[in-house]
Amino acid sequence: MNKLIPPLLYEQSEPGRRAAILPECDVPASAVPEDLVREEVNLPELSEPDVVRYFTQISQLNFSIDTNFYPLGSCTMKYNPKVNDAMASLPGFVGHHPLQQEALSQGSLELMYRLQEQLATVSGFHSVSLQPAAGAQGEFTGIMMIRAYHEARGDTDRRKVLIPDSAHGTNPATVTMAGYEPVEVPSDANGNIDLKAFKEGCDDTVAALMITNPNTLGLFEERIEEVTSALHECGALVYGDGANMNALLGTLRPADVGIDVMHFNLHKTFSTPHGGGGPGAGPVATTEQLAPFLPGPIVACDQEGGPYYFSDPRQSIGRLKLHHGNFGMLVRAFTYILMHGASGLRELGENAVLNANYLKSRIEKLLPLKYKRRCMHEFVAGGRIEGADEIRTMDIAKRLLDYGMHAPTVYFPLIVKEALMIEPTESENKRTLDAFVEVLETIIKEARENPELLHEAPYAMPLRRLDEVKAVKELILRAET
Ligand SMILES: *Cc1c(COP(=O)(O)O)cnc(C)c1O
Repeated sequence: MNKLIPPLLYEQSEPGRRAAILPECDVPASAVPEDLVREEVNLPELSEPDVVRYFTQISQLNFSIDTNFYPLGSCTMKYNPKVNDAMASLPGFVGHHPLQQEALSQGSLELMYRLQEQLATVSGFHSVSLQPAAGAQGEFTGIMMIRAYHEARGDTDRRKVLIPDSAHGTNPATVTMAGYEPVEVPSDANGNIDLKAFKEGCDDTVAALMITNPNTLGLFEERIEEVTSALHECGALVYGDGANMNALLGTLRPADVGIDVMHFNLHKTFSTPHGGGGPGAGPVATTEQLAPFLPGPIVACDQEGGPYYFSDPRQSIGRLKLHHGNFGMLVRAFTYILMHGASGLRELGENAVLNANYLKSRIEKLLPLKYKRRCMHEFVAGGRIEGADEIRTMDIAKRLLDYGMHAPTVYFPLIVKEALMIEPTESENKRTLDAFVEVLETIIKEARENPELLHEAPYAMPLRRLDEVKAVKELILRAET
């Protein structure tokens, strides 16, 4: 059945309806400053059921991990356990003001301190800052730290940052924002960095390499140590894009293979909710050498058990964000890590890889795969169907929605034609994975028998095919009244 978009609240408004009765004023009345007074505010007038129905209905127009399978590659759309939310809603956390003095904030500070320690343990790094609010902001932090490091040594002629062609778009954007020049490094036929091209580009004008491992093809960068050594030999540093850390949990610590600084996406790897623009959290972990440049404040303590206090690293690049990062996300990630423990984290990383390889082994019989290697937590297929030449990835993606499955990431990475990037995550069971394969089989059959059906999909969504370019360029976020 087609879900309908409910009329805007403004359109449902009727004079005199109300959803709340305000309590009697219990403080002396005083005049509102004149410049804050408006005659006409034009707010909708509605009853409580009107409001509840409206918001419940619009919430159901969306796909979410709580309602549907969501194999959106590189985004790690794993289930967000409800216990995380329960912990983040504890009154002691929710009611805690960020400007409360340290002596009265010991519980929250201890949580931040222990989370810093856990992230350092998982990644093998020396120090962690919880400040950045997103993966992209973590990247920016890391590259600014690398820049500050080179500058502190008087090494100011380095202008370039190398980035493999499979990288996420935030990598070159970060580099440009940090005042460096992004230089693309090609991948080889196996989906690794092309070592020959890389080594040719590796000289004393290079400040850093940004590398994602496993990369966005879902492949482990097989000669990572050779790559990081070559960088270090020419005086450059290595930034690790840690968005794909889920695949490595408990098996590989990025610090051990020569990464100098990396970010985590707590909203991917550690199950804090994401989508819809946030809030996220992108803590940054680094070596002892770069630790003085981390953004503050960082929680420190001089002896086991506290007291805990905030401290700013000596040569800090400065703050990234007001207060202490997105604290509610830190509580959720901390809960998730404690709930699993070390062996549980390793197991979930392994299951993420197992699920992806299981799906890959079934889907490679249906769709072309450019790289035949064993994958990590995700893999990239091509959306071309034998015997249905005019069908494109977008047709498959849109038709999946009709069957109640979110589409994989499409047309990314750019180096695979008609890419469909599939990441099931560890939180899906075999039954769901099999159901996904069956739906793909059905869609492939439809493609061969009735391609028009796919070109017109989706049918079950409130909106059909959107003009995506227009939606980006002329985004409308306000209801006109
Ligand atoms: C998600 C992702 C990012 C960006 O993270 P945000 O939290 O969305 O800013 C960067 N790199 C890779 C590989 C990603 O998958």
